[in-house]
Amino acid sequence: MSAAFRFDPVELPPECSALRAEVREFIAAELAAGLWVPNSDFGSHRSAAFSRRLGARGWIGMTWPRRYGGHERSMLERYVVTEELLAAGAPVGSHWIADRQSAPLLLRYGTEDQRLAFLPGIAEGEIFFCIGMSEPNSGSDLASIRTRGAPVAGGWEVTGTKVWTSYAHESHFAITLVRTGPAEADHHAGLSQLILDLKSPGITIRPIINIAGEHDFNEVVLDHVFVPADRLVGREGEGWRQVTSELAFERSGPERFLSSFQLLREVVRWAGPDPEPQLADAVGRMTAQLWTLRRMSLSIAGMLQAGQTPNLEAAVVKNLGNAFERSIPETARLLMATERAGAGDRFAEVLDQTLLHAPSWTLRGGTPEILRGIIARGLGLR
Ligand SMILES: Cc1cc2nc3c(=O)[nH]c(=O)nc-3n(C[C@H](O)[C@H](O)[C@H](O)COP(=O)(O)OP(=O)(O)OC[C@H]3O[C@@H](n4cnc5c(N)ncnc54)[C@H](O)[C@@H]3O)c2cc1C
Repeated sequence: MSAAFRFDPVELPPECSALRAEVREFIAAELAAGLWVPNSDFGSHRSAAFSRRLGARGWIGMTWPRRYGGHERSMLERYVVTEELLAAGAPVGSHWIADRQSAPLLLRYGTEDQRLAFLPGIAEGEIFFCIGMSEPNSGSDLASIRTRGAPVAGGWEVTGTKVWTSYAHESHFAITLVRTGPAEADHHAGLSQLILDLKSPGITIRPIINIAGEHDFNEVVLDHVFVPADRLVGREGEGWRQVTSELAFERSGPERFLSSFQLLREVVRWAGPDPEPQLADAVGRMTAQLWTLRRMSLSIAGMLQAGQTPNLEAAVVKNLGNAFERSIPETARLLMATERAGAGDRFAEVLDQTLLHAPSWTLRGGTPEILRGIIARGLGLR
């Protein structure tokens, strides 16, 4: 059965060490200047100014061709920058979606004009994208979306409601999945991806406040919004195939197991050099799991570098990674209940923050049940 998975070991090339040192130096200077407080959850920690500083260093769009503002570096170099930023808890959220998903989508399916119009600004940390896929009655069953793109002269008129749209209120554009064809028996047919300018008339963006009291995602109501024909991504009716072809980028990165890394750091700090057996056991288990997940995730970066599409392996990393990152606050909470001495205020603060964000980690980007279904299908079990 396990023959269906491939996680070949990847050794980072020497140039990655120099790059890692450069990123650490950059982060140390940012922290010394008091520019942000560490929080490793990419979904709830962002700063547009930080994204611009990162863009100026060449750490957005790292793997893209230079003619689109990219830096022609490898997926492994990108991996090193990403893991360092997340481990440090840097505020990466503003450019995250555009760098990880929207730009790779445009590189693969977009027109030359679209690439030239959007990619340089994304790489500079000036243009932010969000993703309008989920709807009030369509989440896991995404192909059942009802937002309609009706053909009109020169483009489409889009009407419907998107929900849970992360950072729509701070983004410039949304890659939006709409039904441009008739609702046929095969729900996967007739879907298209459109680049929506979020300043267009007819768009209302309403906040949805999460359980931590923060404004990260939104409801986006589209009322006869005109989208010009040149904002179609790829081919009309091919939206489903395009969306599902990019899942390895979305599901395999270190953001799928590092969301609670600041809390793990706090547990290690609390444990100190000579920990009680209970704490030593917890730290040992968490570190071993983290290291294994990191090797698996790095292996996928190697496959992406080689031009492969490891969607099945990516689903495994996301499923195991999310379970791991959710287990850390639970372990920390139990440790704190039995052994409070020495934990400190920062520990309590990070624990509170992590407990409130953790429930969302298994939902965003695909739930465990959906991922396990994909894995089972990949293994030939369904
Ligand atoms: C923090 C956060 C950020 C998000 N950001 C975005 C965003 O930017 N853009 C966007 O489009 N969406 C976003 N989402 C939405 C996210 O993609 C959906 O929440 C997710 O796909 C699940 O859909 P749902 O919430 O409708 O739940 P449902 O699909 O209704 O699922 C409810 C439960 O039923 C289970 N279930 C559903 N179908 C099956 C099945 N066939 N077999 C077994 N079990 C099943 C699920 O696993 C889950 O436990 C975000 C969500 C979160 C939490």
